[in-house]
Amino acid sequence: MSNNPEVRLILVGPPGAGKGTQAKRLVDTLQIPHISTGDMLRAAREAGTELGRKAGELMDRGELVPDDVVIGLVMERIAEPDAKRGFMLDGFPRTRPQAEALDAALEAAAVELDGVVLIEVEDAKIERRITGRRSDAVTGDIYHMEFDPPPDGVDVVQRPDDTVEAVRARLAKYHASTAPIIPYYDAQGLLRRVNGDQSPDAVTHEIMVALERA
Ligand code: AMP
Repeated sequence: MSNNPEVRLILVGPPGAGKGTQAKRLVDTLQIPHISTGDMLRAAREAGTELGRKAGELMDRGELVPDDVVIGLVMERIAEPDAKRGFMLDGFPRTRPQAEALDAALEAAAVELDGVVLIEVEDAKIERRITGRRSDAVTGDIYHMEFDPPPDGVDVVQRPDDTVEAVRARLAKYHASTAPIIPYYDAQGLLRRVNGDQSPDAVTHEIMVALERA
């Protein structure tokens, strides 16, 4: 049994804001599972399931996967034993219906969110960040060819949706479909804004400070 308090967090932000990088660091400190719908959908695709194949086509175009599909995945995942004492959601919710479905599930389980961390980065910075992004083919560790190059000998891969065209589509989706959840959580007093345009260490520090104040 862990002595850590229960904590339920959401990371929101545009593509390339650093959600995945920060989530990996924070879950180590907070000892909660990292639940990334993007990672779950990529795993389904790797496994060659029907869902993975359909989702993969949408992901490559920078489109969103239908709400009912991702809501189903997350509801099953947060019901697993390791998520009973908390979780860090990364990339979910991404639409208002997803946020409402999550609220309903948490209410039914008589638990509450502790915070929604918004990692802010201007659109103008996103393209360069994403097109330089690579990840370790084995560990999934994230690098940037210009800002944080991988060590010699590390075999890196690029996400198929990290192309300029897909990034533009993903940013447009972010503003149209995901940005509306920001006022939704702000109205509940849960939103913590963090400047994502600084070093990963500085962002982690700002998030921890914002959460301690909460
Ligand atoms: P991510 O790894 O979070 O950038 O997600 C990669 C892609 O997976 C997104 O561009 C979407 O196509 C899909 N995806 C991930 N999470 C969601 C979600 N909550 N709702 C809809 N589509 C999602």
